[in-house]
Amino acid sequence: VSPELQYEANLTDEVGRVADPLAEPAERAEFRAMLRALVAEVAPPARTRELDDRREFDRALYRELAKVGVLGLDAPSEAGGAGDLRDQLVAVEELGRGPTSMAAFLILQYAAIKFLGRNGKTDEQRAVLEQLVAGSTLVSFGMSERDGATDLGRALRTRAELQGDTWHIHGQKMWTSAASDAQWIVVFARTEPAEGPSLDGISSLLVPIDAEGVAVGALDTFGIRGMSTCEVFFDDVQVPADALIGDRGQGMRQAFATINREGLLACAASLGVGHGALAAATEYVSEREVFGKPVGAFQVPQHWLVDGAVGLEAARSLMDRAAAVELAGGRSEVLTLMAKLLASETAQEITLKGMQMMGGAGYLNEMPMARYFRDVRLWSFSPLNNEMVRNRIGERLLRLPRSY
Ligand SMILES: Cc1cc2nc3c(=O)[nH]c(=O)nc-3n(C[C@H](O)[C@H](O)[C@H](O)COP(=O)(O)OP(=O)(O)OC[C@H]3O[C@@H](n4cnc5c(N)ncnc54)[C@H](O)[C@@H]3O)c2cc1C
Repeated sequence: VSPELQYEANLTDEVGRVADPLAEPAERAEFRAMLRALVAEVAPPARTRELDDRREFDRALYRELAKVGVLGLDAPSEAGGAGDLRDQLVAVEELGRGPTSMAAFLILQYAAIKFLGRNGKTDEQRAVLEQLVAGSTLVSFGMSERDGATDLGRALRTRAELQGDTWHIHGQKMWTSAASDAQWIVVFARTEPAEGPSLDGISSLLVPIDAEGVAVGALDTFGIRGMSTCEVFFDDVQVPADALIGDRGQGMRQAFATINREGLLACAASLGVGHGALAAATEYVSEREVFGKPVGAFQVPQHWLVDGAVGLEAARSLMDRAAAVELAGGRSEVLTLMAKLLASETAQEITLKGMQMMGGAGYLNEMPMARYFRDVRLWSFSPLNNEMVRNRIGERLLRLPRSY
């Protein structure tokens, strides 16, 4: 029995699993097991480490994921989609546990699918949606800019002007995931003067990455190195009027309508990393001996690991509640914020303590802990930083005065 299966078995017994309100139905558990086996075969730790070192996207894994329908989970059925939010959470968690950059990439593709599924009306936009689901095209998402992504409406400088039936785009995007591998970019640009709320007057446009005037440059990031993070420049890029996605001036509103989903997926990715790191650290300290007994026999490291396991179980419960509420069409924002906050901070803490209890071995790139430590930091500030997450919970749950 692998340590991971053992963990599940240790959590409760047969009777408990039947009674557990959060237990996975057989079909989803099978899907999880299939994905775990696929990742073990196609993206084993040594390959993930190699691609991370080379800062290279895992195309082979992406193709295999597309084949088994992972890209189409929760996509509109007319675009070839099947499955729902819970299946997406399973996929992102399983990838987070191993080749974490692919989890980050999937979150991006799911965001693009959701965005185009809801707002894409033209033939081209529907065709790109179908290709996304089939895994034959990649779309990047250009929202954030150099002057800040949290207070985006105010910081956004990229502008698009409609002259006749052509949009002219000028500006620069920052932190655009996978732009160097993608064929398309959804660009958020100001199309109306900034009067009133800063999120109004921004439109979204679907732009081919190879359009004249687009230039992509890779950024050198600390983590998530199996997916590029880019700057994208727009120098009088011209696209037809119907490149507009959804309603003019409503791009940010359209994006914010689906941002809750990204928070939940960030929670799932953090759970994946947390469990991967917990398993790696537990295995190491069970073997490694100091002063005549395993490191894991000492209270301090043992308590660190236990606190990690408790935090992950609590975060999973919050995530499942938020997902159930969202699937029922309820307001899930507060539960999602809580789930993302707890999962990201717990996973971050496990990797920090994991590095410590592994001593020099934790510092070696050949061990997965250093990569987990680097990768998981993304979700403490993205898609929304945890300070803003706390601000929102304070405002919406506790009805405290808005603090930002
Ligand atoms: C690897 C990677 C991939 C990314 N992919 C994409 C992508 O594909 N598309 C895209 O559009 N963006 C992407 N991003 C951008 C990401 O969403 C932003 O980095 C994130 O939203 C934070 O924005 P910022 O970096 O501008 O930080 P800032 O907005 O400058 O905030 C910095 C810090 O200030 C603090 N802070 C901010 N506001 C408050 C407040 N009100 N109260 C208290 N503290 C506060 C927080 O600690 C925050 O972390 C990516 C980023 C990375 C690193």
